[in-house]
Amino acid sequence: MLPNAIDSFLIETREYHDRITIGISVDAIGSLHDYIRGIPGAFQRMIETMKVLRKYSNININVSMTVMPMNYKAFPHVRRFAREYGASFGFQIAQVSTYFSNIEKIGNIVFHPLSFKDAVKLILKTLDLHKLKPSTQFDLKAKLYYSIAKRNQIIPCFSGFHSFALDPEGNIFPCLPWIGYSEGFGNIREKTLKEIWKNNQAKKIRKKIAKGNCPGCWLECEIARSLDKSWPLLMREILCSKRSSQSFFP
Ligand code: SF4
Repeated sequence: MLPNAIDSFLIETREYHDRITIGISVDAIGSLHDYIRGIPGAFQRMIETMKVLRKYSNININVSMTVMPMNYKAFPHVRRFAREYGASFGFQIAQVSTYFSNIEKIGNIVFHPLSFKDAVKLILKTLDLHKLKPSTQFDLKAKLYYSIAKRNQIIPCFSGFHSFALDPEGNIFPCLPWIGYSEGFGNIREKTLKEIWKNNQAKKIRKKIAKGNCPGCWLECEIARSLDKSWPLLMREILCSKRSSQSFFP
């Protein structure tokens, strides 16, 4: 991000918006961040951007980290960094998909079971799991364990039922990871959205999703809306953790 460009952009948007949240990706501190992002000097530029953002009282900064084998040890440092800049903090476990064009880098992205165990331990310790709200605990555990779950969907997913993803060519898919995975619902340049939404292909895809046949993901932007519909599962998990009985998670 260019600090000067963002400064003028923010001055302009201040006229229209009282409160804006800006997400900043931070994958490690210093050169490891540059390496992961593939841009020399990216970390320094990001700090300059953060300094610009802090000048605006109407801006919420959210630092987001993508956790993978090569950077999980930096987790506590990135979280501290977010705090130092008065930013909120979130993370996701790196996912491999055609959509992210990272299938060929699978060895760098997918955890070995042992390093995964270490990463989970470090993340839970850093975030102090037991001090979090039950719903946040559920979300956190689901996010962590989805990658080693035996099924693609940890919770029933409603992408394609209540939302869709549109690619630059006009193709409509049930969700982002579906792009490049399999055929979509149809193309907006050929039919209206209403026609596409109700066609047989869309129904076929929805049936697949309902049976759990999908690429599988824990992408916040997709899953958050399905989480709202998973409250029975959430209640069960809360009861299980209170009684120390069989939990949904390992
Ligand atoms: S779990 Fe992920 S990949 Fe599967 S349908 Fe939902 S959003 Fe798509």
